[in-house]
Amino acid sequence: MRIGFIGLGIMGAPMVANLDRAGFDVRGFDLAPDRPGRTAGSAKEAISGADVVITMLPDSPQVEEVLPDIVEYGGPDLLYIDMSTIDPGTSRRLAERLRALDAPVSGGERGAIEGSLSIMVGGAEEDFARALPVFHAVGKTIVHVGPPGAGQTVKAANQLVVGGTYALVAEAILLMEASGVDAAKGLDVLAGGLAGSRILELKRHSMVAREFTPGFRVDLHHKDMGIATAAARDAGLSLPLTAIVTQLVAAARAQGLGSLDHSALLKVIERINSA
Ligand code: NAD
Repeated sequence: MRIGFIGLGIMGAPMVANLDRAGFDVRGFDLAPDRPGRTAGSAKEAISGADVVITMLPDSPQVEEVLPDIVEYGGPDLLYIDMSTIDPGTSRRLAERLRALDAPVSGGERGAIEGSLSIMVGGAEEDFARALPVFHAVGKTIVHVGPPGAGQTVKAANQLVVGGTYALVAEAILLMEASGVDAAKGLDVLAGGLAGSRILELKRHSMVAREFTPGFRVDLHHKDMGIATAAARDAGLSLPLTAIVTQLVAAARAQGLGSLDHSALLKVIERINSA
């Protein structure tokens, strides 16, 4: 199976490496000429002759930018899988124009490198079945969650939980430090109990050490909180904690932390509490 893969950033490049390893014939393209896995000189070259085209781009405008090429150069049986995190409405519109799945992921750069991503898929059942070998090469938990757009809705829900968890872990660290308790030891205990989470497992040491190299940038999480907020509005819901987390992420950006890892929410809450 030939795959055209567009967007070779923090996530896309290691995903292409895993698809290569699994034996797929992958042609990768990125606007940046120096990206690992870039074997096509243009989007057209990556798309032409592909059975499957995957995009792993920052946001909806970039996805919409490459769409005309996919429509023009894709063959009649092409399956288009967008694995970026974008708004569910855009995913639904894509699926009206061509055979498409929305398949955003969770698991971060490490999940992309290890091929252990969680993949939440919206779209037709038969297209999901066709895409499964591709998903198995990059992910571990793979769930068809509903019709077009449903994958993005689940991803928005995921980002609420991730943002909220970071904010509360940050507050827990600050509480322990301000009370003279060793936060690293405290978090070791938390990680083994009911408060345990993948975030505590993977990020507690770097957060206590104030190391915020991305990973997942604050700017991208800001985009995702916007998607979640709009989805809540469309569903007629009030989500008060989502509003608070959204404002904390906005504060991080306003404080010039946009290119740091999203665990830098700790810095924002720290600044709220400093003289
Ligand atoms: P990134 O910024 O590292 O990579 C995006 C790549 O797309 C860049 O290399 C950029 O040059 C390229 N690009 C932009 N416009 C293009 C175009 N028109 N044609 C070709 N290439 C283009 O972003 P990332 O961290 O890899 O994230 C990609 C998507 O995955 C985002 O939607 C993000 O929200 C989501 N995501 C990221 C993570 C993470 O931990 N980084 C985790 C889960 C989901």
